[in-house]
Amino acid sequence: MRIDIITLFPEMCESVLSESIIGRARKAGAIDIRCHQLRDFAFDKHRRVDDTTYGGGMGMLLMAEPIALCFESICEELGEKPHFIYLSPKGKTLTQGKLRELSQAHENICLLCGHYEGVDQRVLDKYVDEEISIGDYVLTGGELPALVLADSLARLQPGVLSDDECFELESHYDGLLEYPQYTKPKIWRGVDIPEVLFSGHHENIRKWRREQSIVETAKKRPDMLSGATLTPAEEQLALSVIHDQNGEDSPS
Ligand code: SAM
Repeated sequence: MRIDIITLFPEMCESVLSESIIGRARKAGAIDIRCHQLRDFAFDKHRRVDDTTYGGGMGMLLMAEPIALCFESICEELGEKPHFIYLSPKGKTLTQGKLRELSQAHENICLLCGHYEGVDQRVLDKYVDEEISIGDYVLTGGELPALVLADSLARLQPGVLSDDECFELESHYDGLLEYPQYTKPKIWRGVDIPEVLFSGHHENIRKWRREQSIVETAKKRPDMLSGATLTPAEEQLALSVIHDQNGEDSPS
């Protein structure tokens, strides 16, 4: 997958995307991420890309033309139009399901980071395929949301994570939260790990982890349970955790 990021702060994006797992994956060629300086597509000598809003009001908006020129140059380089996403607090909230859908449907994705009061609506209407938000709050710019999206998309690409970092066992992948995990030492400040994890019995460990995933989800995010596929016994387990938490009698 290739991800192009249109931003006023390419160095900020590069510094994050050059580190750790994503940095290594980029070097190894498992994911191609390119950051584009929007000011390179300004058309005055001050490299200005923002202006005041029509109709009055405080704050500046990113102008349509530099964004259009930058996006068109990316399209030309790719030889096709990438799926174009504007990071915006008005967008649909990002979920693991959305990430899976994007990574299966698109080989090329372009991310637009807004700034100031946002972006001239006309360029959004002309080119943007969808708006994505990272939550119901407002940040100063689209760089952090774009980094969140690029990182979470990149780790779904083949070759980005090693086998032991596999995303398929993680929270949200199958509609449940991940089970609790422990590392060495076995006893830390007098607290031991659950004995089953030390048993070497793979089937019992698998069962314990599945059960704990359901318990974690029922305790912390009961709203997710309706989207998970549970057996009748697992549904019963989830319900009893919820009832216990609420101080109610367990369902029979
Ligand atoms: N005036 C805009 C509004 O009320 O919807 C907010 C603009 S915000 C200060 C500047 C930029 O930050 C936006 O253009 C967007 O790219 C980004 N941004 C802020 N909050 C975001 C969020 N929750 N998710 C995604 N992008 C966000």
